[in-house]
Amino acid sequence: MDYYSGKIDKLISELGRLPGVGRKSAQRLAFHILGMSDEAVKGLTDTILDAKQNVHCCKECFVLTDSEICPICASQGRNKRVIMVVENSRDLAAYEKTGKYDGVYHVLHGAISPMLGITPADIKLKELMVRLRQDVDEVIIATNSSVEGEATAMYISKLVRPTGIKVSRIASGIPVGGDLENIDEVTLLRALNGRVEL
Ligand code: ZN
Repeated sequence: MDYYSGKIDKLISELGRLPGVGRKSAQRLAFHILGMSDEAVKGLTDTILDAKQNVHCCKECFVLTDSEICPICASQGRNKRVIMVVENSRDLAAYEKTGKYDGVYHVLHGAISPMLGITPADIKLKELMVRLRQDVDEVIIATNSSVEGEATAMYISKLVRPTGIKVSRIASGIPVGGDLENIDEVTLLRALNGRVEL
């Protein structure tokens, strides 16, 4: 049933397309936005547009950033010889929050999934191999423990092994199918410290 005018409905349905926002939350957000001052709404939309137009991938690790090289890659304090491979920028943020990892990252922007038609060429694997031409001691694979994450880990280990660079996989302890971003820091660190060589 259509209680609202077309414009309200459109706002609700656009907000409802965002991940994790159901119809009810979308309604709540829509009415909240309609109750905001014009200035506040403009501030919000400008911020969204500004982020969208100015955020891109770091040239080194492919994390989302608004500078050419992200702060982690630009830092002198990070060990560039250890690269942790993660599926997305949120997983990187999860490991960064622990404050205990001093290597750098490589963000794949996805995982191999035959079901979804995501092939190795669709994620940043070629870019990883280019990075491995530099001096690298270890590649730590920290993809999720989903079917796709495991398949991606296997694929990467096969690619990297001929280079002679050590390849390791973060330990189990991460629940099967678990997204890294939802896991507490202690478990993340235990998985990192307990990593096994592939
Ligand atoms: Zn970077």
